[in-house]
Amino acid sequence: MAWNLKFTERSLVLIKPDGVQRGLVGEVISKFERKGLKIVAMKMVWPTEDMSRKHYDQPEHAARALGEKTIAAYKEKGIDLDKDPIDIAKDIQKKLVHYLSGGPVVAMVIEGAHAITHVRKIRGGTNPLSADVGSITADYTVDSYFIADDDGRAVRNLVHASGSVEEAEVEIKIWFSEQEIHDYNLAIEEILYSREWENTFRKIVKGKK
Ligand code: GDP
Ligand code: MG
Repeated sequence: MAWNLKFTERSLVLIKPDGVQRGLVGEVISKFERKGLKIVAMKMVWPTEDMSRKHYDQPEHAARALGEKTIAAYKEKGIDLDKDPIDIAKDIQKKLVHYLSGGPVVAMVIEGAHAITHVRKIRGGTNPLSADVGSITADYTVDSYFIADDDGRAVRNLVHASGSVEEAEVEIKIWFSEQEIHDYNLAIEEILYSREWENTFRKIVKGKK
């Protein structure tokens, strides 16, 4: 194989209703394109509550992690949440369904080497207040767990991105059929993945004289 595609992964990305309403669709897509990642599927969907529920219906270990993350966030604020992590996660999931089904979203499958990690970095931390500058959550919103929890809603963080390869596999199936996912090459992939680009490039770049 002339290209090294051993590290290729796919991520399911959603520009959530607040991202669409804020006029950030182009901005978000540009970040993935500039990085060298490939959009292999894309559409606008107004998710039903059922579809949103499916998307946020996590396996128990993920729900527990979400609940524990919330308990830890509260502890940082000096509040001891004496609740079962699973119950907390269920409560957050309900809020998430309400948030996601509120309006149209842009759904995408993004492909490339280490796509899960790169896309998550570009999206930034879940909580905009502690996200790294340069990321979407840091640069485009002032929302926080403080405001969201105070108002009993999900944090409006503009973009969803799969947390792992396994999560992506499940999520992609919820949003896209096989036919909607395209198998094609991008011209830039020759530079990103070719095993002998340094050699072939030398011949191409040389002037004619
Ligand atoms: P993500 O994968 O980084 O988006 O985060 P999770 O999968 O853990 O949670 C899904 C979504 O739930 C996040 O994007 C937030 O919108 C919301 N969320 C997660 N944790 C909290 C929380 O502690 N409080 C509030 N209000 N919302 C949360
Ligand atoms: Mg997640």
